[in-house]
Amino acid sequence: MPRRELLRNVRRIVVKIGSSLITEEGVISNRKLLRLVRDIAGILRKGYEVVVVSSGAISAGCGALKKDRRLMSIPEKQAAAAIGQILLMNAYRACFKREGFEIGQILLTEDDVKHRRRFLNSRHTMNTLIEMGVVPVVNENDSVVVKEIKFGDNDTLSAHVTNIVQADLLILLSDIDGFYMDLADPYPVEEIYKIDEGLIARAGGSGSVHGTGGMITKLRAADIIIKSGEKMIIANGNIMGVLGRIMKGEKIGTIFVGKGNSLKGKKRWIAFSASTRGFLTIDDGAVRALVERKKSLLATGVVSFEGRFDLGDAVEIRSPGGISIGKGIVNYSSEELEKIKEKKTGEIRAILGETFFEEVINRDDLILY
Ligand code: GLU
Repeated sequence: MPRRELLRNVRRIVVKIGSSLITEEGVISNRKLLRLVRDIAGILRKGYEVVVVSSGAISAGCGALKKDRRLMSIPEKQAAAAIGQILLMNAYRACFKREGFEIGQILLTEDDVKHRRRFLNSRHTMNTLIEMGVVPVVNENDSVVVKEIKFGDNDTLSAHVTNIVQADLLILLSDIDGFYMDLADPYPVEEIYKIDEGLIARAGGSGSVHGTGGMITKLRAADIIIKSGEKMIIANGNIMGVLGRIMKGEKIGTIFVGKGNSLKGKKRWIAFSASTRGFLTIDDGAVRALVERKKSLLATGVVSFEGRFDLGDAVEIRSPGGISIGKGIVNYSSEELEKIKEKKTGEIRAILGETFFEEVINRDDLILY
C-alpha cells in the first residue's frame, strides 16, 4: 500500500532516538543532534505534533565521568544517568532553541505507566506541553529505578508513550535500516501486519539475521502498537532528512500497521499497562457470558480467587481449566469478594447493603485475549 495512504491520518508522532544517533565516542555530538532536531522541527512546522523519546543519558554520563559503561555497577550507571540526563537535555534545549522551539522534560518509570492516575496525569502534562507548542522530551527515570521495575529499553518506553499521548505513529530511529527477513535480501521488509513467533525468532533466536542488536525490543514495541491499532516505523536515523521524507510518503524502513478496530482508551491501558494483583477463576457460564454474550462479570460466576486487591485494581480472569482469558478492573476488594463470590444480586444486597455494584468487573473495564 502506498505510504502516503498509510500515513494519511497521522497527526501526532512519537519519535524515539537511540543513543548511537546522538553520541560520538560517548559524548553527545551537537552536530549529530542538531541534524535530527532540524528534521523534527521541519515536521513540526508542517503541522505534526511530536513527542521525542531520547536515550543517551547513561552514555553521556559515562562520557563525562570518563568511565567504561561495561565496568560500571548498577548504582554507578544510575549515577551516570543523573549526570548525563542534564547534559542530554541541555544539548536538546540548545538545538531546539536554534529552531525556535522550547522543550519540556518528562522522566517516566514503569510504575507511572501501570498506575492509571499517574498514566493520566502524565498524559495531561504532555498534552498541555503540546498545546503550548513545547516539545516534550521523554526518557526513563533511570536514576530511581532498579532492574525489576524498569522498562530497561526506550523501545518499550516509547510504545507506552505512544499510548499515553494517543499518538498515531511511532518512529524508532536507530542505525538499522528496518526489519530484514533474510540477510541476503538487500531491502528491509516494507510492511508488517502481525508479530508472530516466526518474526521474533528471526529477530533474536538462533539463526537471527539481526544478531542481538535490539531488534527483539523493537518487535515487542511493534506488537503493542499493532494491537493498539496504530502504526510504527523502524528507520535509519542517519538518512538525511529521514522524518520529513517519511512523512512525505517515501518508502523508508519497515512500517508495522495496526488494525482499524483497535483497543481504545482505558481498555488499551488495561491490556498493555495495568499490572495484575491476583486472578479470579470463573465458571463455564460466566466464561460464555463474557466471551459469547459480551456481558460483564457478575459475582455469581466467580468460583475462587487469589491475591489481595482493592477496588480499582487489575486482576487476571481465568477459566475453570486455569487458562487466562482476560484482564479487568475489579469493583470489589478481595475481602468483599470473599463474602459475595458465587452469590446472586439479591444475596449481595443483603450482605453489603445498598451500596454495591452489580458487577465484579464491568464490561467496559475488561479485555479478553
Ligand atoms: N534510558 C537509557 C538512557 O538514557 C537508554 C535506554 C535505551 O537506550 O534503550 O541512557
